[in-house]
Amino acid sequence: MGKSKGIKLRLILGILVTASVLIAGIVGGYVAFTANLTSLSSNYLESNYQYAKKLSSSTANLLNVMQANMNSIAKGAGENAISQKELDIWYYANEQYYNSIVIVDTNRRVQVLSPNTVGVAIGTKLTSTASLQAVELNKPLISEPYVSITGRLIVMISAPIFNDQGDYLGFVGGTIYLEEDNVLSRLLNDHFYGNGSYVYVADKMGHLIFHPEPGRVNEIIIGNEVINKAVMGQSGSNRVTNSKGKSFFAGYAYEPHSGWGIVSQTPTSVLDKPLEKLLWSMILQALPILLIILAIAWIVSRNISNPLHILAKFSEEAFLSKRAIPPTIPRIVSMIYEVKQLHYSMGNYLNLLSDEIQIDGLTGLSNRKTFNSTIHEWLDDGIPFSFILMDIDHFKLVNDHYGHAVGDEVLIYLASQIQEVARPEDLCFRYGGEEFGILVKFLEPSEAFVTAERLRKSIATTISPSGEPITVSIGIAKPTDQMRSPKEILEMADHALYQSKGRGRNRTSIYANKDNEE
Ligand code: GH3
Ligand code: MG
Ligand code: MG
Repeated sequence: MGKSKGIKLRLILGILVTASVLIAGIVGGYVAFTANLTSLSSNYLESNYQYAKKLSSSTANLLNVMQANMNSIAKGAGENAISQKELDIWYYANEQYYNSIVIVDTNRRVQVLSPNTVGVAIGTKLTSTASLQAVELNKPLISEPYVSITGRLIVMISAPIFNDQGDYLGFVGGTIYLEEDNVLSRLLNDHFYGNGSYVYVADKMGHLIFHPEPGRVNEIIIGNEVINKAVMGQSGSNRVTNSKGKSFFAGYAYEPHSGWGIVSQTPTSVLDKPLEKLLWSMILQALPILLIILAIAWIVSRNISNPLHILAKFSEEAFLSKRAIPPTIPRIVSMIYEVKQLHYSMGNYLNLLSDEIQIDGLTGLSNRKTFNSTIHEWLDDGIPFSFILMDIDHFKLVNDHYGHAVGDEVLIYLASQIQEVARPEDLCFRYGGEEFGILVKFLEPSEAFVTAERLRKSIATTISPSGEPITVSIGIAKPTDQMRSPKEILEMADHALYQSKGRGRNRTSIYANKDNEE
């Protein structure tokens, strides 16, 4: 059952980096986008509000002028009865304001009417609430919309007529035909602009007095939030959704003279195109930067994860392999503390481990394990060699006379002597106890014999750490062609070594099948 190896760091870092760059990009984009949306929206709200206020003041001016006009006619009519001709002159002078002008007596009977094409006969009694109000209140009025006896939808601006004695004689009324070309529609349509924005006006009861769709005039729009606020005397702006579910930026204002509310509104869909353009330009501007950041982040995260990946891969293979000698750690270039430290420590540890495995702790020569593996290696590679095995003579006595510590000194001393005579390509090792050896590469036993003798003689004539020279007995052997293991050659060299011991020590023997002398 294999244990899960875990998710690779570079995958996690890759996902992390990509995700954070993308999320940062999206969040940044969203914030910028909504900021723009808010600013554009408030621009439209504000401009509609300003526009509604402006229209309210234009309407107030207009109504003032029209009211003043009516007052003048009423004043004239109070002094002298106004003839048809005179009223026609008034009417044509003020044609741009009124659809008709009528003079009515206290019984609401029409006295004079201009133009006379209106279709109401002189003497006709007016029945509208507006005319009733006018004769009852005896003061200047702007009526609510009403349907006149000619069937027209009308708003009437009226002024009472008094004679010099102050007697009430009736009123003069100027009419606006709401459903035909009139002064209001000219004022409001004049300002109509082409992006789907429009203006509408309602009176205090919620009747539409002006709407760009003529069919909707006189419709009652009670549920409309902005018009309700406007006719209640408030001004401001709001986002609204109309009866058809379409949403608008609406500005509204109150016209105090008439009590009308004026609304100017722009469909929010005007933002669709600019926002789409904005979105694309944001994406196009941000994309290269995002890609560059992404690339940099990728490179950095690779630089972090790659050395770790190499180390992890190496340790996986190194510690799973059955090789006697640990492999050397791969080279890694990294600026990161953790990686450097890990790499350094692993390298150190492996070196220590490999020393531990290969080196004899006392003498620093190779140990028996290395001896074994080297012989295997050389046999496998077909490298010819001879094997020199030596044992210190009467070493027990050295220990007995001088103590174990001096004995150790002598072993170290002998190791250094062995290394003196060996060549770099040879392998010097401590086989165990006070037994040492040299694997002499490429040389025949007769050539190894020369080396061995040089060593033996030098030792026998040199003062050792015990204060006197020591002697060694030496055996030499070489592998046969069929030989496959260190054990056999060791036995042969041992055999020769015993010959040297048997012949009185301090000598060198070469192994031969027949027990011949060196
Ligand atoms: P021989 O000539 O027959 O070889 O006599 P010897 O006294 O050397 O006999 P033998 O080889 O059997 O003795 C080995 C001695 O080496 C026994 C042991 O006390 C000593 N020895 C083995 N390893 C060490 C070591 O690491 N340090 C010290 N000081 N002595 C060791
Ligand atoms: Mg021994
Ligand atoms: Mg010995």
